[in-house]
Amino acid sequence: MPDTTSAPLHHLHAGIDTRVAAIRESHPDWQCARGCASCCRQLADIPRLTAGEWALLKQGLATLPAQRLAEIGDRIARLATAPSRPIVCPILDETEGACPVYVQRPVACRTYGFYVQRELGLYCGDIEQRVAGGELADVVWGNHDSIDHALRALGELRPLTEWFAQDAPGR
Ligand code: SF4
Ligand code: SF4
Repeated sequence: MPDTTSAPLHHLHAGIDTRVAAIRESHPDWQCARGCASCCRQLADIPRLTAGEWALLKQGLATLPAQRLAEIGDRIARLATAPSRPIVCPILDETEGACPVYVQRPVACRTYGFYVQRELGLYCGDIEQRVAGGELADVVWGNHDSIDHALRALGELRPLTEWFAQDAPGR
């Protein structure tokens, strides 16, 4: 499938990839990996995406088997009408404990675990424990405020539930 990601989003992804690679290189035992998906099960809110992120995510969703996509659609519809917290990402493959659209995942999923927000942190519980223990004092975290700024420049952020309701894959 051709890469139709917009140039600004591509640029943002490349910057994130560089920061993530640097952290992984300095800490080869970094715990974010396939199968470690606690963060996908404890979202603070319904994921919000720009139009470019949705276009990319939609491409990934469109490659999933019809049955799987229908299940995701059902979960998203339930999330839209009756969200319960913490929010489990409706896209997560619970059997595999992994994201089925990892390559096309939104920016927030790319930065989580590697970027922090001034005064707010933004670590998952596992990383928080290591931070509190002083183990990660040398990590050069990404700056999440700059990511938020870059995303705002890419356009309006809308909830996944809205994107899916108006522009579902396969329509
Ligand atoms: S952010 Fe935390 S829960 Fe998510 S993959 Fe990384 S270590 Fe696992
Ligand atoms: S889109 Fe994928 S990586 Fe992001 S929260 Fe959902 S399952 Fe996790």
